[in-house]
This record gives sequence, C-alpha cells and structure tokens, in this order.
Amino acid sequence: MSGSEDVDHALLRAMLDIVPDGLVTIDTKGIVQSFNPSAERVFGYSAGEIVGQNVSVLMPDRYGQAHDGFIDHYVRTGERRIIGIGRIVLGRRKDGSTFPMELQIGEVKSAGAHLFVGFVRDLTTRLEHDRRVAELQAEVLHLSRLSDLGHMASAIAHEVNQPLAAIGNYMGGIRRLMSDDLPPRLRQAIERVSEQADRARDIIRGMRALGRKGERPRHAEDLEALIREASALSLVGTNGTVGLALRVAPEATRAAVDKVQIQQVLLNLIRNAVEAMNGAAGSQVTIVASRADGRIELAVSDNGPGFSDEVRDRLFMPFATTKPDGLGVGLSICRTIVESHGGTLTAESPPEGGALFRFSVPAAED
Ligand code: ADP
Repeated sequence: MSGSEDVDHALLRAMLDIVPDGLVTIDTKGIVQSFNPSAERVFGYSAGEIVGQNVSVLMPDRYGQAHDGFIDHYVRTGERRIIGIGRIVLGRRKDGSTFPMELQIGEVKSAGAHLFVGFVRDLTTRLEHDRRVAELQAEVLHLSRLSDLGHMASAIAHEVNQPLAAIGNYMGGIRRLMSDDLPPRLRQAIERVSEQADRARDIIRGMRALGRKGERPRHAEDLEALIREASALSLVGTNGTVGLALRVAPEATRAAVDKVQIQQVLLNLIRNAVEAMNGAAGSQVTIVASRADGRIELAVSDNGPGFSDEVRDRLFMPFATTKPDGLGVGLSICRTIVESHGGTLTAESPPEGGALFRFSVPAAED
C-alpha cells in the first residue's frame, strides 16, 4: 500500500468511526465485514461480536431468513429491490428487541471485492418525537377551548343573568300586587323567592367581574399574520384536506386586539368549521377581513352542512352542542371575547350554503 493509500485508509476509518449513522458492510454471502461505533450503539453488539456473522442476526427472524435469498437474487440477476433506495425496515438488537430503522444500501465493487454497505438510522426516537409533537398539538387545541375559565364563567353568567333579572322583575310585580288578606305562609314564601333571586344575581355579578378581571391590554397587531398563525394551528391534523382562502383588504391589515384572545376566537370558529365539514372533498374555510365604520369586520365561512334555524338560535348558549363529545362552550366564549373588543358575533346561513360567522374588532390607527 502506498503512503497516500495509507492516508486515504486512515481517513476513511476516522470517518466511519464518527458518522452518526450506523454503517454495516457485508459481502455477497451476507457475512458482516465491518461494523462501525454508531452501529454498535444502535444494535447493542460490539464489532467483535458481529464481524464474521451473517447480517441476518440484525433482523427479525422473518426478514433474516429471506435475506440471503435477496442478495443471491441481486448478484445473479442484477435486479435491484432495495439497493440505492432508502426504506424503513425493522432491526433487531442484541437483547432481541426490534425497532424501526431507515436503511439505505450502497454497493461497492473494487479490485475483485464485491461489498454492500448498509447505512442504518434508528427511528425510535424520531417516531417518539413525532408522536409527542402530535400529542402536544392535540393538547394545545383542547386547552385553547378550555383555557379561559374566567371567560366561560362570564359567558354562563351573561346567559343566566337575563332570566334572573326577569324573575326579579316579576317578583317585584307580585309583591306590589299582594293583597293584605294573603295567607302569611304564602306571603313569606314569595318574600323568600325574591330574596333568593337577588342572591343569585349577586353571585352572577361576582362571576362576571371575575371574567373581566382577566382583561388584557390591546396592541396593534398584523391581522394577516395573526390569522395565518391561528389557521395553521386549527388545521393541524387535517393533512391538507381543508383548503384555506384568506383575503385581508389593504385597509384592514392592522387591528387593536388582544392577539391571543382573537386567535382563540378564530381557532374555535375554524375548528368548528373543520369538524362540520368532516373531511368532505373540496372542504374550504374562507376568511375575509374588510374595513367597516372605523372597525375591521371578519367573516369566517365554510362549505359544510351549515345549521338548522333551531340550532342557530341556540348556538351561543353555553353547553349547546350537537356533538357527542362537544362541550358547547366554544361559541359562548368567542362571543364574550368579541364583546370585550366592542363587537358582536353573529351566525348566518348564507344562500350558497355552509356556515358564516361575522365579528368585528377595532382597527389600529397609525
Ligand atoms: P362545540 O364545538 O363543543 O359543540 P361550540 O359552542 O363551539 O361547541 O359550537 C356549538 C354548536 O354549534 C356545535 O355543536 C355545532 O352544532 C354548531 N356549529 C358551530 N360551528 C358550526 C359550523 N361551522 N357549521 C355547522 N355547525 C356549527
């Protein structure tokens, strides 16, 4: 071997020692010729244990048995089944456990030697990482629906307050109309009902104050970026089956809002739309922002089944849901948030079908 070949050889060795991928070379009989340190880590065997053995020990039985046949087939016919193509296969560690790995195979023919080089990457951690990310995304979506307990309390309070006020008014009327000859127990009962209605209104007032306590400052926000972020999060898991059309008018690009809260509104509206469209072909969410009377109006629509008049009347009530596992608080929270921005949230059934929600937020003046 010449001096320069020595250097080449040493360089190659050093590289094989440090590459993060496992590297296994075999001959045409499937006998392992070299096994680098990364391969030792991946499979749990030392090079000494594995060099000279058939590579099938690194595979679960059912692949291992067929493997010699694969090499043989290739050497005889030249027909490539795996060489040059990366694929995901199962590997087997020394302790017998199996794991998913990405395998790339290359071929070396030189000076009469015919070898195959396998590059191996353990996918266990990557798959685990992907699973964790998917889990986290699901948690974020779930939390964003539940997060603001103060808002939920406030939304329920808003709803309950109206019948309570009516009860109080009717009770006032009854007391004024009570004649002196009313049996004392009936009179007492009417007084009690009145007291309890007042008490319930106090409790509700407290809850609404709780909802307001969490109010946060507004900032001038880039509306398009805000919408894009919220939609990206809402469309997680739809794998491109739902299209998004976004149109922000040039005079509607800056809004004075609590970014997180308005994103929560959008997230709820888009998730509802996605759930209503239920993966139907051509599903699309359209979001349009335009300037109207010093404010910015947002319209979020879908081409799903829409809702019946009966459902529409109850949409914003807390706990009104048509979903088996729905909470029915999303839209009532949305309404409270929109109202705290000085707007109203309305639902429409447009003539072309689907559902359309509209709300407005203050525009940010330069
Ligand atoms: P949840 O989503 O937990 O049911 P919401 O308050 O967000 O609670 O929604 C209440 C109900 O409104 C839903 O159960 C559904 O029936 C209806 N709804 C909301 N958005 C849409 C939509 N885009 N298309 C059809 N129905 C909708």
